[in-house]
Amino acid sequence: MSHPKLASIFNKDEKRVDWHDKALWFVRHKRDMSAHSVKGWEELRNLGHGIKAHMLSNLDNYLIQFEENALKNGVQVHWAANGKEHNQIVHKILKEHNAKKIVKSKSMLTEECHLNPYLEADGMEVIDTDLGERIVQLAKEPPSHIVLPAIHKDRHQVDELFQEHLGTKPCDGDPQYLTGEARKHLREKFIQADAAITGVNFAIADTGGFVVCTNEGNADMGAHLAPVHIACMGVEKIIPKQEHLGVFLRLLARSATGQPITTYSSHFKKPQPGSKMHIVIVDNGRSEQLSRPDFRASLHCIRCGACMNTCPIYRRSGGHSYDATIPGPIGSILSPGKDLTKYSSLPFASTLCGSCSDVCPVKIDIHSQLYKWRQIITKNTPQPFVKKQSMKFMGKLFAKPSQYETVGKIARWSLRNLPKSVINSKPNTWGKARDLPIGPKQSFDDWYKERENNKKSNDQ
Ligand code: SF4
Repeated sequence: MSHPKLASIFNKDEKRVDWHDKALWFVRHKRDMSAHSVKGWEELRNLGHGIKAHMLSNLDNYLIQFEENALKNGVQVHWAANGKEHNQIVHKILKEHNAKKIVKSKSMLTEECHLNPYLEADGMEVIDTDLGERIVQLAKEPPSHIVLPAIHKDRHQVDELFQEHLGTKPCDGDPQYLTGEARKHLREKFIQADAAITGVNFAIADTGGFVVCTNEGNADMGAHLAPVHIACMGVEKIIPKQEHLGVFLRLLARSATGQPITTYSSHFKKPQPGSKMHIVIVDNGRSEQLSRPDFRASLHCIRCGACMNTCPIYRRSGGHSYDATIPGPIGSILSPGKDLTKYSSLPFASTLCGSCSDVCPVKIDIHSQLYKWRQIITKNTPQPFVKKQSMKFMGKLFAKPSQYETVGKIARWSLRNLPKSVINSKPNTWGKARDLPIGPKQSFDDWYKERENNKKSNDQ
């Protein structure tokens, strides 16, 4: 289904749209306060952008360097060209260790590869241990946000979900009670786990180590208790040096939630004595994205979610309306690269206001890339007849100022005089959920000319 169709389902619940919008704007506000408190924030963003651009230009070398150092540290390294290979590799490792119970910390890559259903099909139990992820897993839904996976659910819905699946008592959505019960439930799973799977936020080429950022400590808990740790990373997670980590850790938490630092920045380098550690490095379309000059900077993304929190479309249409693993503005750049036809509506789910680019900690030109995709999609995919014709009409209209002025006069008169039922009739899809303002008597052009004339006569 296209983005407008899925968004209209989300928009049916107006109350939810309101609190979803407000909750994300609150996070955006926290991000602003936190970013503004750092002297040299813009320099930090420039540095982040520069390091990522350099890394992408030398990706092959840094990946090989990372592999060499990880092998020296006693870590087993695997390469996967796509999601299928990734799942097969992880499954094989788990089988070799006779692992049946698996705990997993948040990893958008494993979502992208649909790892959970792949392992579950072979009878394995995979428990997502990030609280938000566990909530959506119990609800049998995908995450709707990359940092706040259950942001589309309120505490009362979580209360009902926990009663049904965890046998909790009704608590009127008491967050303290609910998190306490989730903790007890997850502790059991951690203790019983045969293997732990984590994502990777940053993999450091010159040490072979990697860092996983969580606010709940669930990656540590899983990786330290289970005898096998499998870390799954996209090729773009590489950073060249340990010293670059400080730049990204400072940018990531502030941009994501407004925190000065993520509660747990867990550094992994080698397996614990008696344990095994594996790293699976995955391409899955990233090399192709790298080969597109207009879109390669999208691989700078450090998955902070700031572009989602600020996007007026995302906030009011919800993450599920994008029908993609990564929703929001950055997802609308990444998804068409994977399937242009399926995701052709996503680059249009933007006002092109540029707020996403303004908040992006690694300075990705998100709105320019969305605009670029629009041009490609319009040329390469069939467009609705009405849209094509109206664009042609508008093109002709804007070409002649006299025509434009006449139509403007008619439109302003109509907005003032025609009843709402005519203005917001069926063909005007824009008016479905919006009230248009009362049309002014003057155009901006007339108003400006009048103002200038008045100024001149006052000066004389
Ligand atoms: S594109 Fe930028 S703002 Fe959006 S998630 Fe990635 S790093 Fe964050």
